[in-house]
Amino acid sequence: MNQIADSPGKALATTIQRVRGFNDVLPQDTPAWRHLENVLCGVLARYGYQEIRLPQLERTELFSRSIGEVTDIVEKEMYTFEDRNGDLLTLRPEGTAGCVRACIEHGLLHNQQPRLWYMGSMFRYERPQKGRLRQFHQIGAEVFGLEGPDIDAEQILMTAQMLRELGLHDVELQLNTLGTAEARARYRKALVAYLDGRRDELDEDSVRRLDTNPLRILDSKSESTQRLLDGAPALADYMDAESVEHFRQLRALLDHVGVPYTLNPRLVRGLDYYGRTVFEWVTRRLGAQGTVCAGGRYDGLVEQIGGKPMPAVGFALGLERLVALLDENGAIPPSRIADVYLVVGTEQATAEALSLADHLRSALPGLRLLMHCGGGSFKSQFRRADRSGARLALILGDQELADGTVGIKDLRGHGEQKTVERATVADWLAGELNGDA
Ligand code: ATP
Ligand code: MG
Repeated sequence: MNQIADSPGKALATTIQRVRGFNDVLPQDTPAWRHLENVLCGVLARYGYQEIRLPQLERTELFSRSIGEVTDIVEKEMYTFEDRNGDLLTLRPEGTAGCVRACIEHGLLHNQQPRLWYMGSMFRYERPQKGRLRQFHQIGAEVFGLEGPDIDAEQILMTAQMLRELGLHDVELQLNTLGTAEARARYRKALVAYLDGRRDELDEDSVRRLDTNPLRILDSKSESTQRLLDGAPALADYMDAESVEHFRQLRALLDHVGVPYTLNPRLVRGLDYYGRTVFEWVTRRLGAQGTVCAGGRYDGLVEQIGGKPMPAVGFALGLERLVALLDENGAIPPSRIADVYLVVGTEQATAEALSLADHLRSALPGLRLLMHCGGGSFKSQFRRADRSGARLALILGDQELADGTVGIKDLRGHGEQKTVERATVADWLAGELNGDA
């Protein structure tokens, strides 16, 4: 510990870097994140969804039981460890399972049909690349206790509204139905029978999935596998009548409201608990990682986790990909640190400057006032004022301190410096910055 202090002149400790796939969001980028979060949370509130805050760590069993033992996530992507007590725990790879766990644990599903949302980090040990991280962020929504397609439609409309309010237009809605567990089991047999004799034509991942999770082959990224699938049996032909009707009604609702969508018969989800409706919002502008929102129905999950059988439907938005898309669109509002920068004279002015700054922030809610700290010449203070993006500099030099005034300089124009009585500067600013901040 004292090694560095004991041996001056020796090399400093080597720097420590972030863990691969775990990103820092730097100050220049946080305004875009805030903007995104504000828009999304605003829409959720207007649709009557309530926020729920959930832990990032859960018992491993929660995920193996819900997501499915043979999914990519559970097989090879989870951050799992034993804690000091020997309990097997996992950093959540997704939010739905934890949300269901919490709802059951706290009795939120008794005679209620909660509409919930959450936001936060998810963790998956994947190969990091553009739009694919090991810690990433989602805003997710889940609704419980509603069986009909009206709520599926509402969720899809809500996501459409979100994308509209973000100004994102190059995103396509894809839709499919996965039917009941029985329908999928029947189809699974037929698909495996078709692909089994063509193993050597399949990509490596798909060969592995053939024995474990064959439906996942449908969304293989390999072109040759996709070509092979052209001749394969279609899920739609194995669908049960009720799911067909549910899907027909959902499409009719979307058609009525006028939301365009593309039917994608190969759209499946990487998590076992989905059935019936599945949807994704996909863009071509982000390369291979083009899905910015994914969701669907999971009517069996609540029971699987130990609750009473209860239908449910939900979705999650990938925030990194949405930020990237906003960036791509140039839709990110420019960031300014402050509206006003307070330039301070010698040390004697400091106390009065602190008090003036406090007074102005209280009097003018919304005002972003950055007070200079650390001394230095007026010239260097004005340089910082300029860099902050502020429109105005307030100056509390020794002269102003003595006179009971404040100097005001327009940093973006060419006007003369003004002097205003300190007692009236809040009013003056209110008039000046009105509609500007
Ligand atoms: P993908 O097919 O891209 O791997 P997925 O089907 O595994 O996605 P979901 O579990 O449905 O993804 O998660 C919902 C959304 O969360 C995705 O559509 C995506 O926007 C985002 N997401 C998922 N995994 C990652 C990741 N590793 N890094 C960044 N965002 C991710
Ligand atoms: Mg994935």
